[in-house]
Amino acid sequence: MNTARTRWSLGLGAILAVLAAALTGSGALGASGADAAEKVRVVTTIPDLKSLTEAVGGDLVEVESLARGTQNLHEAEVRPSMMLKLRRADLLIENGLELDSWAEVAVQGANNPKIVRGAPGRIEVSRGIPVLEVPGTRVDRSMGDVHPLGNPHFSLDPGMAPIITQNILDGLARVAPQHRAAFEQNRQAFLARLDGELARWMKMMEPVKGAKVVVYHPDFIYFLTRFGLVQVGTIEDRPGIPPSPGHLARLIQQMKQEKVKVVLVEPWNDKKLAERVAQEADAKAFVMASAVGAVKGADNYIAAIDFNIRTLAEGLR
Ligand SMILES: [Zn+2]
Repeated sequence: MNTARTRWSLGLGAILAVLAAALTGSGALGASGADAAEKVRVVTTIPDLKSLTEAVGGDLVEVESLARGTQNLHEAEVRPSMMLKLRRADLLIENGLELDSWAEVAVQGANNPKIVRGAPGRIEVSRGIPVLEVPGTRVDRSMGDVHPLGNPHFSLDPGMAPIITQNILDGLARVAPQHRAAFEQNRQAFLARLDGELARWMKMMEPVKGAKVVVYHPDFIYFLTRFGLVQVGTIEDRPGIPPSPGHLARLIQQMKQEKVKVVLVEPWNDKKLAERVAQEADAKAFVMASAVGAVKGADNYIAAIDFNIRTLAEGLR
């Protein structure tokens, strides 16, 4: 798996070559060379999938995420460093539903046949997900809507983890079939632990069931549905489209009428605006973990969900 480093393509250009040298150098400071070389190298587009892949892959994998949790995952800027990660990858794990379609640009610059679309080293975890908010009429990105195939933020619902990790397991077992049994064992152990947490989370949310919330960007619909909460509006006009003054006035009016107490906001969104809307409607704004790593303490999958449960259980009390 190390040969990709030495068979460096001339076509990638000097800048990439310099970056590659830097990357190889820093890599040598980490795990011992032999160990690192034997691991399955996985790249995920978003940090939630990195955490879930680590849960399934254990110490047999080395996982990097292209986007950071503090970013708007719809709009990650493609950088040469992404191409370097992808160039060394055995497996690329994507979310799908056009959340991370920016990754395709990075793949094309990476020159790695293992992860091109259709290759065994490329998987999309949305396979098998019951997709919510599928538009009734045709929507495309030229209209600015960033959810044209339905809502892509299913990873924030722990109830979707069995499907997501099954897809991850299938992908890992395809590129490293000798480890299938270990991957299956890791996955079962993780899901058993998650089941215990889910029971605890359900209990915490029981007293606030049926509560109405407003979200800045609609990235919590799967999560809210799982725990019996109701999203009655969004600050964005439509997914990815900034609010007009008229939309905000109507939203505030509606929040007052329906006695909405909380506005959920992503760390990358306009927190001041969320607070202003909340204040005018006599509600409160709360920053949520819109991904693993989005807020302090949410540094793995279970910790991120736990942060969101605690925030809502408290905010809605
Ligand atoms: Zn979105």
